[in-house]
Amino acid sequence: MRALSKHARKSAKRDEHRTRYYAYMGSDAWRAVRAGWLTEYRMRFVGEPACAVCEKEWQLSRDDLHHHTYDRLGAEAFEDLAPLCRSCHSRVHDTIRGSRHWSRMRDVAASIKVIQRLRLLLRNDVDHRHQRTRAS
Ligand SMILES: [Zn+2]
Ligand SMILES: [Zn+2]
Repeated sequence: MRALSKHARKSAKRDEHRTRYYAYMGSDAWRAVRAGWLTEYRMRFVGEPACAVCEKEWQLSRDDLHHHTYDRLGAEAFEDLAPLCRSCHSRVHDTIRGSRHWSRMRDVAASIKVIQRLRLLLRNDVDHRHQRTRAS
């Protein structure tokens, strides 16, 4: 039998990972982790969570919890997860996927930096718009 190339091994691993991830996303275990995360959030902070990018109100029933890392899938630490609204969540993943720079970086580092970057971009954008309206 011919050994799998490095690339094939890597992509097989990615497929296996993806299958596991999607099965988990539909599970009661994940629902319990989400609820537990919100409880933890409320113990640590005053007020309700907001999307880590656009800062819109985050709701357990509607919005996503993004994994900074999949290392502890099923036994996530509070810090492994970030509240994101649906559209910011897709932007985070599109940004990581769309860039060699980000996708080469370790998942936690890339994920945290991309979220910061998108938040800054969004904030600058809002500031500019304010300035334009004030100027006109
Ligand atoms: Zn958002
Ligand atoms: Zn995610």
